[in-house]
Amino acid sequence: MPLPVRSLTVLQNWDCQGCTACCRQYHVSVSAEEKARIEAQGWANEPDLKGVLLFKRTGGWRSKAHRLNHKPDGACVFLGPDNRCRIHVKHGSAAKPLACRIYPFSLVPAGEHWNLGLRFACPSAVEDKGRPLAEHLAEARGYAATLEGEAGTAAVTAPPPPLQRSQQVTWGDLGRITAAVSELLADEDDRVERRLRKVLFLVATLRKATFDGGGDPKKAITGSRLTELLELLCEEAEEDVPGPPEDVLPPGWVGQMVFRPVAALYVRKDTGSDRGPAQTSALGRLMSAVRFARGKGRVPQTHAAVPVTTFAAAEKPLGPLGDESEELLERWLRVKVESGQFCGPANFGMPVWDGLESLSIAFAAVEWLARVLASDGRPIDDAVRTAVRIVDDNYGFNPLLGRGRQKYALSLLGPRLELPRLVAWYAR
Ligand code: SF4
Repeated sequence: MPLPVRSLTVLQNWDCQGCTACCRQYHVSVSAEEKARIEAQGWANEPDLKGVLLFKRTGGWRSKAHRLNHKPDGACVFLGPDNRCRIHVKHGSAAKPLACRIYPFSLVPAGEHWNLGLRFACPSAVEDKGRPLAEHLAEARGYAATLEGEAGTAAVTAPPPPLQRSQQVTWGDLGRITAAVSELLADEDDRVERRLRKVLFLVATLRKATFDGGGDPKKAITGSRLTELLELLCEEAEEDVPGPPEDVLPPGWVGQMVFRPVAALYVRKDTGSDRGPAQTSALGRLMSAVRFARGKGRVPQTHAAVPVTTFAAAEKPLGPLGDESEELLERWLRVKVESGQFCGPANFGMPVWDGLESLSIAFAAVEWLARVLASDGRPIDDAVRTAVRIVDDNYGFNPLLGRGRQKYALSLLGPRLELPRLVAWYAR
């Protein structure tokens, strides 16, 4: 019996609007079974697909891995002239590769169930269009059952990610922590950037806590005791966390030096029609990395949406965001937290505290990118929408963000209190 799938408390809507962005942006990997199934569908007999390579080998000449091929205009080889998937039209949804069917849902194992999340790289998710996520549960259950069949139930019911190396809690306590964080992020008395600084206060404080009571179960901080502690800390955050971003110290030299190269990874597209002009060659990618590290002169166009602008332009204060952008940022952060997309297997095996810190740096990257995008006159709400899409496309998916070097970079920022400073600096 497959594990159940749960939706989120935050209200998030989605339905495919058929924009075809995903059919143009991603290289979709296919298993050997999926490849054989699609080949058996007889596409070679279609006049316009005769002799067309439907799959491309990935991972070098020795590899047996394949992905769907793309047409010269960047679209998936199966995207028809009516902008519909030809496999779907002719054989139904189940005939498509699993990755195409699941997108933009994200299914995160959470003990005795799966959490349903969403990728905000999809414009419909950002724009909150369609039916509530809860109305997609039946469909999601089908995908979860397939994933469970492939990975095995044992992999799905594995223990929760640790809070940090020496802090392991139960799934129930992890749920209490994510619920408290989501509640902080929903507090309409604050701007979203301050809510996130309060979350960082919570993380910094709880990193020092001992949850197991030193081996004495009577002293262990678990269940209702943990809930009480979280409530107390949330009240303390109100006292301790500075108010407006102008009251927060600017990021120091280390913060700026570490932030820019990480931001470069969030503002990057190496495939599809949104590929940045600076990403078309190994030399271009190297030069982009050098320019981001220097942080002077022109911002490299690592994504097609990045306009011709300078690093200096991105440092100019933009002022408080309007209600529309604030609502989107709250929804985005809460979906990532409640679904568990910020840690564990969904985010390169990151422990919980590191995952929440990685979310704050992704948030700062959104704020920074919104300034870059708005520097050519784009309305700010539009700039924030686009920035969330671009950053979320990389969050938890760009393998470069999962490397030890990036995890080390993140570990430099937390103890130096640079993360709240970065969040506040780019919110001015
Ligand atoms: S990007 Fe989203 S809305 Fe557009 S086709 Fe893909 S799933 Fe549908």
